[in-house]
Amino acid sequence: MVGRVSGGTVKILVLAIAAVSMMVLALVAAPQAGAAPPPVAGQQGSAAALTAPGTAGLRWDLAIAYTLASTEARASGVPMHITSGKRSRAQQAALWRQGLATYGDPAVARRWVLPPGESTHETGEAIDVGPRAGAAWLQRHGARYGLCRPFDNEWWHFERLTVPGLPCPPRVADASVRSRR
Ligand SMILES: [Zn+2]
Repeated sequence: MVGRVSGGTVKILVLAIAAVSMMVLALVAAPQAGAAPPPVAGQQGSAAALTAPGTAGLRWDLAIAYTLASTEARASGVPMHITSGKRSRAQQAALWRQGLATYGDPAVARRWVLPPGESTHETGEAIDVGPRAGAAWLQRHGARYGLCRPFDNEWWHFERLTVPGLPCPPRVADASVRSRR
């Protein structure tokens, strides 16, 4: 028997379809939100626990690479921590003033610290790592994670300079060499 569909029934059907659609949309949207670029500690609330201490403000690929590398190092009993990561313009300026006071000559100072606006620490693309044993481990194994030591004179400074698993580019004498390019 085919009965007439009342207005009330149509209303209920429409509401039910809308509710199901919303649930489906919610389910579809959830994985998309999860697939966003990996959060960096300190930038997105509870995500802070996901990456290693000291990685706040770093570029996400460096934060992830260092987190994986330091986790492996610690699992092998090697201590490792970040002594300097992302720096503000003001922090870099203070370090530069300190460098000028220490070395006198700006040309000498910039071998150790770059003026504000030139350091990869300001863009979140560099980390200084300690202690020495941790830095030595990272120099030896870091390329697996794309992490490389770029400068002969700074055993503590690392950047993401290669594709994970490929060799690091050759080192240069110091930061002033690269900054003049
Ligand atoms: Zn550095």
